[in-house]
Amino acid sequence: IRPVHVIGGGMAGSEAAWQIANAGVPVILHEMRRDETAADGSTVEIRTDAHQTAGLAELVCSNSFRSDDWEYNAVGLLHQEMRELNSIIMACGHDHQVPAGGALAVDRDGFSDAVTKKLSEHPLITIVREEVAGIPPEEWDNVIVATGPLTSQALADAILKLGGEEGLSFFDAIAPIVHADSINFDIAWRQSRYDKEGPSGETAAYVNCPMDKEQYDAFIDALLASPTAVSKEWEHVPYFDGCLPIEVMSERGRETLRHGPMKPVGLTNPRNPTVKCHAIVQLRQDNALGTLYNIVGFQTKMKYGAQTEVLRMIPGLENAQFARLGGLHRNTYLNSPKLLDKQLRLKAMPRLRFAGQVTGVEGYVESAAMGLLTGRLAAAQSLGKALSVPPPETAMGALVEHITGGHMAGSKFQPMNINYGLLPPLEAPKVDEEGKRIHPKERGRAKKRLQSIRGLEALKAWRDANA
Ligand code: FAD
Repeated sequence: IRPVHVIGGGMAGSEAAWQIANAGVPVILHEMRRDETAADGSTVEIRTDAHQTAGLAELVCSNSFRSDDWEYNAVGLLHQEMRELNSIIMACGHDHQVPAGGALAVDRDGFSDAVTKKLSEHPLITIVREEVAGIPPEEWDNVIVATGPLTSQALADAILKLGGEEGLSFFDAIAPIVHADSINFDIAWRQSRYDKEGPSGETAAYVNCPMDKEQYDAFIDALLASPTAVSKEWEHVPYFDGCLPIEVMSERGRETLRHGPMKPVGLTNPRNPTVKCHAIVQLRQDNALGTLYNIVGFQTKMKYGAQTEVLRMIPGLENAQFARLGGLHRNTYLNSPKLLDKQLRLKAMPRLRFAGQVTGVEGYVESAAMGLLTGRLAAAQSLGKALSVPPPETAMGALVEHITGGHMAGSKFQPMNINYGLLPPLEAPKVDEEGKRIHPKERGRAKKRLQSIRGLEALKAWRDANA
């Protein structure tokens, strides 16, 4: 059997390679990040603008795969569908999780090392550390391009020329990471919002930093006055709405952060339990050792000097030492509804199939899910089997619908996280499975559960029919 070539060993490419190899088809995985030895003996680290290591499936910003609740959360449903399909990303995520309440968050190095090891050890996978700097050679007749939002310029230019389209783009920002031993626990305390239990029963997964009104106002003033690092040529590129920098949020209104990442609900300051905090900043464990914490939802484009000054205004972080500061990166994707067919192949060159964020899905999990699917499609092609994508009732099928045009008629194509709005609608139930009346306020939630159950059943049926 001829090998499938996967370009890009990120979230999508790693998952694709795993799926192809497990179908019995050889894979050559091309990843450009590597360490090279220069003539003078020094090490040259070849990276993208956001990746910091040469590890496969490196998480560039948050360490969270978001909610793991498959019954009531669409990304949780996507997790579950991927687990049903033997996902390497979900398996390694599970093995390397860190406490995060109802979310699935991972130790980023442990996770990436585990994915790298499993792929390196698979007898059908060959990893080649090189940039594919243009249209792949013709003899590569079954290719998955999973080069992500930071696709190298040479490849991006070649693909866009081929499709006769401009690349679409938006901004993604990174949140800062703090050394845990620099947090002042005379002020900060540990608690999960609403004391929500995590998988091992813990209810204190987050570190919380309280603010009163005066502190909040001073913080917003400093944020609005701080210089940002964005060059002129980038001024008109839009932001992804789910990942706005904190200074952009505060420009939209002084209270926006208090209703977003700084919302003071479901948490009680043990040193002052009777007084409600005006705002609360949360930090989430970032590595298994518990030595690093990221500031949740605090992606920022502030210049480095200003950034440390402003963030140290947060009570509890006045002496914070930063393991990594926030930053801004351009995120490029294809106009997929126009350029890709239902098998996620480039119409202009069907030997190229696309997966991951470059297709216009957004997020680690969504990107990996599209890698999983294209891996299976490419393997089926190599084996001469017919395989169509899962039905739109599944979270995976709904994402494919989104990127291949199902919901896009007439509107500008925008990247999207998975959400229940992408799944075919269902009527909200009025009674539960036992015939008991559901309170009108609870019906929206009950509908989500029915959508999830329908999706998971449809996914299993699709899997079994194609076994
Ligand atoms: P990636 O994981 O980026 O993998 C692409 C791989 O292709 C990389 O390893 C790259 O080195 C390689 N590559 C590129 N060009 C070539 C080439 N020509 N030849 C060979 N290899 C190549 N998502 C979240 O869920 N949460 C977040 O907090 C979050 N923050 C983000 C912050 C920033 C700044 C950016 C840019 C993105 C962020 N995202 C976040 C989105 C995140 O990048 C994607 O969700 C996910 O990593 C995309 O997976 P992917 O496999 O498509 O791309």
